[in-house]
Amino acid sequence: APAIRLRGLTKQFSAVHGAITAVDHVDLEIAPGEFFSMLGPSGSGKTTVLRLIAGFERPTSGTIELFGQDVTGKAPFDRDVNTVFQDYALFPHMSVLDNVAYGLRVRGVGRKERRERAAKALAGVRLENMADRKPSQLSGGQRQRVALARATVVQPKVLLLDEPLGALDLKLREQMQVELKQIQRDLGITFIFVTHDQEEALTLSDRIAVFNAGRIEQLGSPRDLYERPASRFVADFVGTSNLFDAERSGSLIGREGEHTIRPEKLSLSSEPRMGDGLRSAPGTVVETIYVGSGIRRVIDLDAGLRVTVLERNDRSRSEETDRGDRVHVSWHDEDVVALIPPGT
Ligand code: ADP
Ligand code: MG
Repeated sequence: APAIRLRGLTKQFSAVHGAITAVDHVDLEIAPGEFFSMLGPSGSGKTTVLRLIAGFERPTSGTIELFGQDVTGKAPFDRDVNTVFQDYALFPHMSVLDNVAYGLRVRGVGRKERRERAAKALAGVRLENMADRKPSQLSGGQRQRVALARATVVQPKVLLLDEPLGALDLKLREQMQVELKQIQRDLGITFIFVTHDQEEALTLSDRIAVFNAGRIEQLGSPRDLYERPASRFVADFVGTSNLFDAERSGSLIGREGEHTIRPEKLSLSSEPRMGDGLRSAPGTVVETIYVGSGIRRVIDLDAGLRVTVLERNDRSRSEETDRGDRVHVSWHDEDVVALIPPGT
């Protein structure tokens, strides 16, 4: 059985002006041991789905199964899940070790075993020598790791993580991403990870569900979402994308309807490039931006469309091409992705 199965999961909240549908008929299956992410903008329903799975909210309709067992009506403590929140929610007056051991105490585990298991969980997040400190004596990254140790010490089958790295600065966040992945692999438990950060989701996940207005817009591997976005929303939200609108698609790419192509799939040359499955369009360079790993250029195509081209660092070319220059933008037919228009 899947670790999680959601069927027609729906949650409405009553508001001043009628009801808000926070989660709208979500169907989803997550496999045991999967690192699964829910990605979407603020307000798209991600936290509500987690709270429904954890049992902090009751669904308006639909069902939740954990490992084949219907838990829809069960209390949070009757579900084999645990949650890590963005603000960590550590007890400030307790030592790090006691914080980690707390869930075991609540479950009636004896003192000796409690301390052993908590110490082991702390070692798992490389904080064994911080056991006697108070949370206030730790850095943000260390507090985050304590929260992880506390959530995993009770050995839940599923760990729910709601933007757990949101409070950390960029450098620390990237470090913690790697650690999170390692911890998940070591423990072999199912992670359901909520984030609004597309890069974070792409880096960490086995699969991602992209949420939009309470619904799953697309479900797939990071590569699927990046290379084969199914809608304009996903193409826009996951990475940067060039949109060939329906009006200009015909003349530019020889196909009807909306299409998209990633900036790194476009290349520049002084002459049009010819060949099998290769297309070119002339334009003018509007902007050249150095982005460290490459150079991003904004080009206004003569066909009346603005595109972004990302080229890896190439010193000779970067000095050659600048604002106002005439260029040819080329791409391979196979890199162009058809989008499903909204509302179909
Ligand atoms: P996300 O986590 O993706 O930012 P949320 O699940 O927190 O989104 O919220 C989804 C929608 O549901 C939002 O419009 C939010 O305002 C609304 N919402 C969430 N919780 C409540 C609540 N307890 N009462 C009323 N509306 C809520
Ligand atoms: Mg949220």
